Amino acid sequence: MTKLMYQTDSYLQHFSARVIAVDEENHSIVLDQTAFYPGGGGQPADSGVLNFNDQIYIVQRARKSGDDVLHIVEAGQPLPEIDTEIQGILDWDRRYSLMRTHTAMHILCGVIFRDYGASVTGGDMDPLAGRMDFEFETMQKELVQTIQTAINLEVSKARPVRVDILPREVAFQIPDLIRTKINLLPEGIQRVRVVEIEGLDLQADGGTHVKNTAEVGRIRVVDYKSKGKINKRIYVELD
Ligand SMILES: [Zn+2]
Repeated sequence: MTKLMYQTDSYLQHFSARVIAVDEENHSIVLDQTAFYPGGGGQPADSGVLNFNDQIYIVQRARKSGDDVLHIVEAGQPLPEIDTEIQGILDWDRRYSLMRTHTAMHILCGVIFRDYGASVTGGDMDPLAGRMDFEFETMQKELVQTIQTAINLEVSKARPVRVDILPREVAFQIPDLIRTKINLLPEGIQRVRVVEIEGLDLQADGGTHVKNTAEVGRIRVVDYKSKGKINKRIYVELD
């Protein structure tokens, strides 16, 4: 089982860990703890390096496998032995861009729900660009500018972003979480990680975010598409 260090400290870029398993077939290394985000919830996985002594492993990406995080490394190098102490370093430019983008998506969700009552149904992102799908029948071209102004106002308000890990029964009593389909969480999950942009948005979420909306910087609404009468997809980019 890998302890997920990014869940409590998304700003952790360097860490030490111990090798607990290797998988020759997938060319991957399992550590007792990691700051690498393994992907999920629309946020892509991290890349970076692992090293010990003179050995450097390029981590192409991390991936979840049960309770473990696999660090998939380039082929052609012998994998380390179990119990090796290893240093991990994230590709921080990429991760920090994803944290800003992910937080921008929450700002967009929060504003569109507050101003239009439209719920989000899905989303996807790359560093500095994302898209979100909404049940938003009244979306039209004229709203693009209005939405862009409203989301950038929330950036400039410098709202704090808080992360809490709550017992399942407590999380299930928060009305704002119910609209984000928290009831779809698998029954075995006893603790729910909750990400809140104070005064704007609250979601059950396993991803990484910045600690204040000011860090997101300017957000541009670059496009939108109808995916049917009700479903609309909105595209944003960051500077
Ligand atoms: Zn999220």
